[in-house]
Parts: sequence; structure tokens; C-alpha cells
Amino acid sequence: RTVENVRNICIIAHIDHGKTTLTDRILEMTNAVEKRKMREQYLDSMDIERERGITIKSHPLRVFYKADDGNEYEINIVDTPGHVDFSYEVDRSMAAVEGAILLVDATQGVQAQTVANTYKALEHNLEIIPAVNKIDMPNANIEETVAEIEDLIGIPGEDVFRISAKEGIGVKELLEAVIKLVPAPKTADDGHLRALIFDAKYDKYRGAIAYVRVFDGEIKAGDKIMMMSSGEVYEVGEVGTFTPEMVPVDILKAGDIGYVIAGLKDVSKARIGDTITKPDNPAPEPLPGYKEVKPMVYAGMYPGLPEYYEELRKALEKYKLNDAALVFKPDHSPALGFGFRCGFLGLLHMDVVRERLEREFDMAVILTAPNVEYKVVTHSGEEIFINDPAKFPEEGEVREIYEPYVKLSIITPPEYIGKLMNLVQNEKRGTLVSTENAGHERVVMHFEVPLAEIIFDFFDKMKAVSRGYASMDYEFLEYRKSDLVKITIYVNKEPVDALSFIAHREKAYTIARKLVDKLAELIPQHQFEIPIQAKAGGRFIARSTVKALRKDVLAKCYGGDVTRKMKLLEKQKEGKKRLREIGNVTIPQEAFLAMLRIG
Ligand code: GDP
Repeated sequence: RTVENVRNICIIAHIDHGKTTLTDRILEMTNAVEKRKMREQYLDSMDIERERGITIKSHPLRVFYKADDGNEYEINIVDTPGHVDFSYEVDRSMAAVEGAILLVDATQGVQAQTVANTYKALEHNLEIIPAVNKIDMPNANIEETVAEIEDLIGIPGEDVFRISAKEGIGVKELLEAVIKLVPAPKTADDGHLRALIFDAKYDKYRGAIAYVRVFDGEIKAGDKIMMMSSGEVYEVGEVGTFTPEMVPVDILKAGDIGYVIAGLKDVSKARIGDTITKPDNPAPEPLPGYKEVKPMVYAGMYPGLPEYYEELRKALEKYKLNDAALVFKPDHSPALGFGFRCGFLGLLHMDVVRERLEREFDMAVILTAPNVEYKVVTHSGEEIFINDPAKFPEEGEVREIYEPYVKLSIITPPEYIGKLMNLVQNEKRGTLVSTENAGHERVVMHFEVPLAEIIFDFFDKMKAVSRGYASMDYEFLEYRKSDLVKITIYVNKEPVDALSFIAHREKAYTIARKLVDKLAELIPQHQFEIPIQAKAGGRFIARSTVKALRKDVLAKCYGGDVTRKMKLLEKQKEGKKRLREIGNVTIPQEAFLAMLRIG
């Protein structure tokens, strides 16, 4: 086998457009892997992801394909995450390959993130092989989907494959196109090792496993290697490829995709985007594009019960072995006690972390409402970044406040333009920059919007006003000056720092109003009346009340049969793990996330 017979590709597809089905079909046509086994292996993703229909990532895959020209080719298929939270990983995966199959569901049309990812692929100079999938379905809108690909991506319609991944129609032709159109890997051949880490996974017994694309040189067991971002040196224990199981090989050569095991303690030692070289003959420059991944949203995380702080710390440290994107540092809240300030890539990432802590570490946690990171310029001109609303300055304490803005693109059928404009411009402080047509049935709208407005309920609202038809993508734009105020919530006359939030001045009153009402719904009734107030700029701007519990309701609770009572007790015990007594008021977890649920 020579490098001329290697093809490295990724598949760009929106969720449910058929990436897994196509991959299964390709596996079936190539490797002699048993079907059931292959599914287990290839779809080795976490339960949470599968339940939500979002595969964040799965193994790369190597198959051998006997092409019509009589030669056997090695095709490596690298996975790209399907969610905007993980766009840096998409970027790094693309840097590892020479081509991309662009897969679009003929019943759904082109989605916003697919367009964004295709542009990314073009920036990486990937050869793009477009295919409209699910042509076997009666409601397939094939020609319209082809027209969207022409307009949105600029690929001529005659180059677009029409396939059914499920029925296997057109898949062979697609693979032939991969062989013919995607270039074989090129190497610099300058005597240096350069291998890109495009993913990493933690293994209990072997430490972090780096998924690499070798660009120049070669790696084998026993080699000394150096991580170019840190200068740290390790000895390689094993290299191998994915079939899809990990299979050791003697050597990984230029052009290859495989894995490296080298006694790396955790995934933070195998940083995505980093370049591996050799310490005795290091490459003069790393491969381009390495970036420290920065969190986009922050939230406080506290143990369900205060006494579990140490356990939570241990759980977070263990969890982080496998997720370098999570950042956390110890924090203390007067209301919630000892906990952590955590940074996440986005809300999905936050959800995944919380659920995995609960499932894998049996840790119930209290999370506070997420927020973005603000930039503050003090009177003396110093710039400070603040990601905790409780530490946000009061009025007049600083000279200027800036907040992050994003470029937001939405693809929608034209009939929802009005409603989407209203949502983004009137409710979310965004501005429309431009619109363009795509085919006959879609329009792309480009906006600039504060990130803080997108991280809450934006996705659901966009889906609601467009009856599910619109799709979105966003990327960081810049920090812009903004008129923001801190709002402090008082429960039973006591300030609860963990409920503080930052709002734009124009919306402060409306949000405060909705939040105190929501809190009044979520905080259970007590024997006494509980006032809930919001304070901004030194005065109270909204109030709601949790009425006192009537005696007969209590009595009812404790009547009834024994099993019901047991159940109640059981539930209470469970619930207890995530309650906090503040003053003499019991506040449940839902209340801390009330911000996410005000409409
Ligand atoms: P992924 O999220 O992109 O990996 O999508 P999947 O491969 O899981 O496919 C989503 C759904 O579409 C599944 O129910 C598949 O069976 C179905 N599907 C995928 N490709 C085709 C196709 O060519 N024709 C039909 N009728 N269904 C398909």
C-alpha cells in the first residue's frame, strides 16, 4: 500500500440526515465486519447523546475499498460533531482530511449548520462531494434540495449525487467519486514528524488516547514524541488504526489516520489541534490552526448537599480526564456554600456535563443560570473579564461594560421571515445584516446578536415561530459596548447571590418581573408568606409573593394509604439532594435555572 491509495474524508451532515446510515452502508460494502458488532463498535457514543439524537463524536473508521480501476484503496472516515457547541472540533477534524461528503436530506433541505460547516470545509481546501440523501422517500424534494445546494454553496447541480443510504442506491458511485476526486494525502518529506491531534479519548487503563493524522514523517512504538504546544516529551507505547476497533500497527506513516498511546495522563495532555513532533528533530513550525478552547458560557455548580463538596471536586476532576473543554475553579456563594464556577462550550455541553456527573458519578448538582463573560473597563482603564453575575460591578463602579456578540445565520422558508425578524430584532436585541435566497423555498438571514440572548431559549423559540423549519448557526464576532445592569433577587428579604443576573437596561424590568413570578411558582409554599423581590441600581423593581400554606393542605398530605406515604417520603429524600435552605426558605434546583424558563 502506498500513500497514493489513501483517501481521508469526513461527512458533513445535519442531525438525522443519514450520516450513520451511510457509514453503515460503506462498512457493509467494504470490511467484512459483522453487522451487529459493527453497529456496537461504530456507534460507541454515550447514552445521553443517543437519547437526544445528537452524536457528539464517534470513532474514526478505516475501510478498504476495491475500486472500479482494480486498485484497493484505504478510506479513513473521520467523524465531525453535529452540534454548534463543538465547532472547534469540527474544524480540527476537517484539518485532518482532504475531502468531505456533504450529505443533505431531500425531505429536509439544507440546514444552517450544514452551510457553515461546508464553508469551513472550503476554507480547509477540502474536495467536497455533495449528495442528496433519502431519494427513496415519497416526500423527497430532490430537485429543490439540489437547487439549495447550488445557491447556498455554489456547487453545480449536475455534480450532486442522488442517493439513498438506506437502500444503498448511489452509494457505490459516491465512493468511486471519493476515489477519483479526493486527492491522496500530500507530505512535505522534510524529515520532520508532524502529526495533528484532532481528537482524544480517555481510557481508564491506558490514559489519554490521541487520535492523529500524520502529515509528515512517521511514528512507532518506542519513539520519543513532543507536544508542540507544551514542549512535553513522552514515549510512545502503541500506535494503531481504527477498523473500527482499535488495532495496533507497527508504524503510522505520513497520510495515515490512527491513534497514539503514550502514557498521557488525561486528555488535557493530548490537546485537540496540537502538533506531535520528535524532540530530537522537532518540526520548525507546528501545523496551523491550534487554539486554546475557550468556554462560551459559565455557571455556578454546587453539590446537591453542601457536605458533598469534596466528592463533587473529585467527580469533576475525574470527569475532566475525558473532557478538556470543561473548566472549573472553586467558588463560594453565601447562599449555596462551597462549589465551583464552571465554563462550558455551550448549553448542550453544560447539560451533558451535568447528566454525566449524575449518571456516571452519582453526583446530584445544583447549577445556577448560565451567563456569558463580560468585559469591564475600570475608571483607571484596566480591562477585566467577569463571568459571575454576583461579582458584576454596581452602577457607576466602572467606566464601560462590553458583552460578546455573535454572527447568527438562520435558514428558513420565506413565510417565517417576519416572525423571525420580530424574534431576533424585537425580543433578542439583534440586527439584521442581510438576507439571500436559496433555491425557491428558502431564505438565509444574517444577524448580529448578543451571545447572551442566544444561550437561553433562543433555539426553542426559533423552532416554535417557524414550526420547526428554521435552522441556525452562530459564531463569535466581537465584544461590543453595552448598557447592562445587575439584578439581585431577594427571597424573604435576603439577597440570594446565586440568583443574580445581568440584563440589558431596556429589558431589566420585564425580565425581573417575569423572573420573580416564575420563582414564586417554583418555590414551594411554606407556613409563612415569602416575598420575592428584584433589585437593580439600588432600588426594588419587581415583587411577587409565595402565599403561606393553608393548614388543611398539610393535613391532606399526611393522610392516605401507607404506600402513597412511602412514595412521598422516597421522593422527598431524592428531592432533598438538590434543595437549599436559604434563610428559612427551601429553594429547589429548578428555581436556580428559572432564568432559562421565562418566556
Ligand atoms: P444521522 O443523525 O445523520 O447519523 O442520521 P441516521 O443515519 O441515524 O438517519 C436518521 C434516520 O433517517 C434513520 O431513521 C434512518 O433510517 C433514516 N435514513 C437515513 N438514510 C435514509 C435513506 O436513504 N432513506 C430513508 N428512507 N431513510 C433514511
